[in-house]
Amino acid sequence: MRASNVFQQARLPTAPLASLEELTSIPVTCKAELLRDQIAHPPFGTNLTYALERYTHVHLTSGTVGDQLRVPQTSEDWAATRGHFARVLRAAELSERDRVALPFAFGPQLQFWAAAAGVEEIGALALPLGGLDGRERLRAMTELGATAIICTPSYALTLIDLAGSLGLEAAFESVHTVICQGEPGGSIEAARQQIESALGARVVDHAGSTEVGVFSYPCAAGGGLHVNEESFLCEVRDPNTGEEVGAGGHGEMILTALRRRGYPMIRFRSGDVVEVGETCPGGHGDLWLPSGIVGRTDDMVVIGGMNVFPSAIEAAVRETGVLGGYRIRFTADAPEDDHVSVLVETTDPKLVAQIEDLILHRLALRVRIVPVMPGTLRDGRLKTRHVEDARHRTGNGRQGG
Ligand SMILES: [Zn+2]
Repeated sequence: MRASNVFQQARLPTAPLASLEELTSIPVTCKAELLRDQIAHPPFGTNLTYALERYTHVHLTSGTVGDQLRVPQTSEDWAATRGHFARVLRAAELSERDRVALPFAFGPQLQFWAAAAGVEEIGALALPLGGLDGRERLRAMTELGATAIICTPSYALTLIDLAGSLGLEAAFESVHTVICQGEPGGSIEAARQQIESALGARVVDHAGSTEVGVFSYPCAAGGGLHVNEESFLCEVRDPNTGEEVGAGGHGEMILTALRRRGYPMIRFRSGDVVEVGETCPGGHGDLWLPSGIVGRTDDMVVIGGMNVFPSAIEAAVRETGVLGGYRIRFTADAPEDDHVSVLVETTDPKLVAQIEDLILHRLALRVRIVPVMPGTLRDGRLKTRHVEDARHRTGNGRQGG
């Protein structure tokens, strides 16, 4: 790889690595570097191991134009991606007997195409429903007898609402599993309960990215995700200090795609924040991320010298069964005295202590829960950041909306 890949030449040591542990001697890769390289050497940059004729797929990361990385793959790279998604489906206990609804337009990101390829890999029947409106999708699912759906949690809820209003609930009659993608853990936990109670179907998560591929699969025993360590090397590090984070801690995933050769991703700073789990209840060997992806590093705030991820607070709030609105508020009475309070719509006084305990236990963070009457906070339900940073200094604080 080193001989032909100009981008990696400056980064990789001249002698081959003796072990995977030596990988950490290679500098991390940031998306900004790859973007700069692509702008300087359009259209694909210099992180190419082979001549362009070898490549068969190209996917774009999400983002605005000019901020999208183009990630080309060879057919060998793609075969690995197909296998990685098949792993997701098998972990969700899908098989060749399943008919899997894909209710989305196939955009330029990897996830859509990887999903379809994974369905084919396990021998299930793919039901591509892009280009249809919601009503047409529900009709097609009814007629084709869909048994599983792959979509964002928000979209699953949209379909459920629509089916209710159109009287098309039959679309979900044979659906036993919803495989979520594309949204972080807090949102998934909020949606999971609603989807599961509406459909009586299991909801499982998975996560991947266009940059490194489908690096995780759901844990059927304990929920959350496992990193597919057969194909991906994962370090979880404090985004500020670079220190490796142990079990129970939160940090940024730095991923190396071991089977991606055409456009190598070595120690890629994913920006995804995860909690490092102990061994999962199923005893599976791969690294367990009990809450899936809990947020992004750019959401992080520093409180009393600690990294705090609003999504992790959000996930804990949702875990206690709060379905109404809430707002996380960072305040500081004095510059060195940060406070976290969470306004929660509830009439149940027991919840206050329960949420405070869970957050203290889970995040080692003392927060003050302030119960407010239901309806007080405008509830965006999903995909809305409910964060208010009212501290004096700017620092890492980021105003949420
Ligand atoms: Zn497991």
